[in-house]
Amino acid sequence: MSPESLAFAPKAFCPPSSRPPVCVRWLGTAGFEITHGPYTLLIDPYVTRAPLSVCVTGPLKSDDNAVRVFAPQADAIVVGHCHFDHALDVPAIARATGALVFGSRSTARLCHAFGIPSKLVSNVEDQPSEHDVGPFRLRFFRSRHSKLLFGRAVLADGDLGETIPQNALAYRSGTVLAVEIEVAGLTLFHLGSAEIDDASIPSRAVDLLLFCAEGWTLGDRVPERVLHRLSPKAILLSHWDNFFTPFDRGPKPLPGLALARLVERFTRLRRDLLLGTLPFFGDVRL
Ligand SMILES: [Zn+2]
Repeated sequence: MSPESLAFAPKAFCPPSSRPPVCVRWLGTAGFEITHGPYTLLIDPYVTRAPLSVCVTGPLKSDDNAVRVFAPQADAIVVGHCHFDHALDVPAIARATGALVFGSRSTARLCHAFGIPSKLVSNVEDQPSEHDVGPFRLRFFRSRHSKLLFGRAVLADGDLGETIPQNALAYRSGTVLAVEIEVAGLTLFHLGSAEIDDASIPSRAVDLLLFCAEGWTLGDRVPERVLHRLSPKAILLSHWDNFFTPFDRGPKPLPGLALARLVERFTRLRRDLLLGTLPFFGDVRL
């Protein structure tokens, strides 16, 4: 089963005509742009897509041109964790747009190291943590990262230091956060890694779950635990693309996704579940 074969139909969702739609656009990896009216929220935007060799050897730097083209506008940026494929571009986007940044203590350190004014950056590690930005109500929860190191440990675990990281592994995860976004009467939920903290995320109904597919097989009954907590009407799969390749080559699936099994596990539990993918910069409107 290919990710493309799961693409949402153009009118998979039916936004009411009585209000502007909530537009959810995929930016590759776990990155999303959510817009409602004139307001833009970015989650884990990673548009540099540096080649593997640069990630390993460094220096790993945000691509200013990619930021200008692919993330031109933001009122707020949410950072689920600080691995480079979630956080590398955040300081550059914040600087270019003046957006507020919400994330862990490590996210705040990263922004500080790049000279982003501290009044724009909120450490939302301590719960409960709720923030309003335009029409978006953001609610943060502690979450977990999948154990990408052979199912035994989290790669690049721990907090970021005070200095600018120079290569991919120096971008340590920091505290991992999940975020709920309420907007226009809808509830969206973002899991940027294929794990969930059952204890810290209360059961809730969700209209659209943005779910990271990478590494879902490495945890214990991840689809079942996610559905038990979040009860989504629809799931948009993300982070299934090889993020060492540039956008212009189109999304190439990561190895070992076991997508057919993932879909089967989700839909066996919830037969009416709407589940799909998007192409780069494709969107759904709710
Ligand atoms: Zn990660």
